[in-house]
Amino acid sequence: MNMVRVSRVGFRYIEEWVLRDISFSINKGEVLGVIGPNGSGKTTLLKSLNRTITPEQGDVFIDGTNVKEIKRRELARIVGTVPQEASMIFPITVLEMVLMGRAPYLGRLNFEGEKDYAKAIMAMEMTDTLPFSSRNIDALSGGEKQRVLIARAIAQEPVIMLLDEPTSFLDIKHQIEIYDLIKGLNSRNDLTVVIVSHDINLAAQYCNRLLLLNNGRVSKIGSPEDVVTKENIEEVYGCRVLVDRNPVTEKPRITPLSRNL
Ligand code: ADP
Repeated sequence: MNMVRVSRVGFRYIEEWVLRDISFSINKGEVLGVIGPNGSGKTTLLKSLNRTITPEQGDVFIDGTNVKEIKRRELARIVGTVPQEASMIFPITVLEMVLMGRAPYLGRLNFEGEKDYAKAIMAMEMTDTLPFSSRNIDALSGGEKQRVLIARAIAQEPVIMLLDEPTSFLDIKHQIEIYDLIKGLNSRNDLTVVIVSHDINLAAQYCNRLLLLNNGRVSKIGSPEDVVTKENIEEVYGCRVLVDRNPVTEKPRITPLSRNL
């Protein structure tokens, strides 16, 4: 069953088209990785899924309903987003930030109840952020902040989770832990996941399918084996790579090569 259907989406911020005639579907419970060079439209594509932007052309459907017709509050219960970074204009603690994930569930008076606190604490435990729950968000490292943003999205209990480069500031231990956590949520709760990643190897290891964007267009979509080939990656990224198989996972693995080798 399609959880998300993107149909002929086109979008431009100014003059230049950033997304061009994009169509694809995501199955319920699938982990889709979005890869592609800088500026290829990955973040903009995520933004079209959570309605941060409205495409000029085409439509996005979630569970069969056009996102344009879903109320914001309802959409916030369905789609959780882990942005690349969050800049805070006012001081806020880690706990307060994670509790923001509960906002779409709060009653008219906007007070969090015991259940909301329990869910926030569980999300912090899962992301290893509980030890600094009372610290100001601006007093965290990039990697710690990233884990707090993931905790907020977990506390939100969405049906679809969108993650934009969630591991870019993380050390390798936390990278793997976050991917394992996301994969665990995906298999236990049938969470549908869309994850933008610069790390082609991690994406190939954890995602059911990969979507390779090139200059705002879908260049390839398919299994990691079909998408991560020497030809596809060299053509889209414009650099030489070696593609072999990870001996443990047997997933495709890339190594960028210097022109001089
Ligand atoms: P990616 O995530 O693949 O790096 P983005 O979706 O962030 O790509 O950006 C795609 C293109 O849109 C880039 O050329 C970028 O400069 C441009 N762009 C992104 N955000 C804006 C914006 N707010 N206003 C104008 N242009 C933008």
